[in-house]
Amino acid sequence: MSRDGHFLALAGGVGGAKLANGLTQVLAADALTIVVNTGDDFEHLGLHVSPDIDSVTYALAGLNDPVRGWGLAGESWNAMRAVARLGGPDWFALGDHDLATHLLRSQRLRAGETLSQVTAAFARRLGIGHRIVPMSDDPVRSVVDTDEGPLPFQDYFVRRRCEPAFRGIGFDGIADARPAVGFLDALADPQLRAIVLCPSNPLLSLRPILSLPGVDERLRARRVPVVAVSPFVGGDAVKGPAAKILRELGVPVTPEGLLSFYDGLVDALVVDACDADWASCSRLSALATDTLMRDPGDQARLAREVLAFIDDLPGRSAGA
Ligand code: GDP
Repeated sequence: MSRDGHFLALAGGVGGAKLANGLTQVLAADALTIVVNTGDDFEHLGLHVSPDIDSVTYALAGLNDPVRGWGLAGESWNAMRAVARLGGPDWFALGDHDLATHLLRSQRLRAGETLSQVTAAFARRLGIGHRIVPMSDDPVRSVVDTDEGPLPFQDYFVRRRCEPAFRGIGFDGIADARPAVGFLDALADPQLRAIVLCPSNPLLSLRPILSLPGVDERLRARRVPVVAVSPFVGGDAVKGPAAKILRELGVPVTPEGLLSFYDGLVDALVVDACDADWASCSRLSALATDTLMRDPGDQARLAREVLAFIDDLPGRSAGA
């Protein structure tokens, strides 16, 4: 299927990586930019860890572990065991092979490269043609406001397994952070055809990207369709804490609840067939289909359906 224009996908880790991988199977390398959340990034054992960028990169390289849902397939854990033996922190699991990514990334960042440059270099080495762009090269650190007080993101997400009740989220450093050049280029691309919000956690993964200074304004000013793919299937998240968080906020775990986080930004919505009833009474253009991506075949099918849906959106037919 040949398609005009450039597509911008905004993604977190697990769900985002799956749809991003599908999009790479149906769009040419120069027709897609994947912008990835870096609010989850943190420094651990002296290393710069970028969990969402790595999830997307490993998925696009076909190296990810689809069962565990994060990290590399065929991973071993010797370094972690050795860290624990010496009394070091082992609550954040870094596999032996994954460690190579963090070691090299940290070294290159210390030598003065930007996160965008390191991400692009790793992607090239792994044979990925499509652009993976961190949302910013400046440090942004998500902090979760919980019933126990504020917790740095990975403390909440991994160390505490999202157990404290979620009250809100903030992003340290965001006021001074600039969107990465590759993100700004995609936003300004005259060929920009549509923006896809991947089925990622709307608060933990997509809000940091949308909160960067100037991003929301630029997205709205482009007047191209913004299409959200729901991470919810029949009143629950496929994986992770998104449903728990919405319940704790008193927001329904439905497509409507999802839209409440986007303040009118979204023009069209892709929901699971389980939520088809909602789609038929929505004001927005909506597509109801099987959104569960069990394997790369599902990822490509859903990506194809999303792109065909965009082609059919009223007033924005292909080539318009
Ligand atoms: P995180 O950084 O690991 O939280 O990654 P994301 O924010 O990208 O992904 C978490 C969201 O992805 C969860 O809310 C899941 O419901 C959603 N998700 C994961 N797999 C799928 C899938 O196959 N289909 C859909 N529709 N959503 C998915």
